[in-house]
Amino acid sequence: MAKEKKLALLKKNILKKNIYFPGKNLVFSDGNKDAKVMIIGEAPGRTEDKLQKPFVGRAGKLLDSLLMSIRLDRSKVYLTNLINYRPDKNRKPTTEEINVFKKLLFKHIEIIKPKFVLLLGATATEAVLDHIGPLSQVRGKWKNIKIFKSYFNILTTFHPAFLLRKPDQIKTVLRDLNKLKKKLIN
Ligand code: URA
Repeated sequence: MAKEKKLALLKKNILKKNIYFPGKNLVFSDGNKDAKVMIIGEAPGRTEDKLQKPFVGRAGKLLDSLLMSIRLDRSKVYLTNLINYRPDKNRKPTTEEINVFKKLLFKHIEIIKPKFVLLLGATATEAVLDHIGPLSQVRGKWKNIKIFKSYFNILTTFHPAFLLRKPDQIKTVLRDLNKLKKKLIN
């Protein structure tokens, strides 16, 4: 089945999960579905819910400029979130929500088949890597993880919303992104 068709089916399944976030819009993805890099955040915020696109608010603008530093833009990456709806008042998603949406995210990764996955922040990292403990234990390290039948190269870094509060950590993220750039040119 073609990628578009698989994505359309996945979207349909995610639409059924709107029951967890009544009244919120689906924020499915943005960017290039054939990109080598898939970027995964936590959940949409207010601006994303309104515009129905991931990473278009303040954190998204910062993410765009960080990506520019390694010559990437939305034509060269595919962006989505662990949770595809905005949790009320930007609360952290519950364990139940994470478990439900994680299965759909894994399907999403399987369909896109990126060469590299970049996880942003603790929530996406905990879900995808099954990581319990501080983000610092896995941040900046490549992991090779089996999702369904295939292995994926996964790198973790800080979430841009965290960087808005702690701009001194931008240099750490730039270092992490350079690790991604090195793999992309090799
Ligand atoms: N934060 C996220 O994790 N995702 C978005 O799409 C926007 C902000």
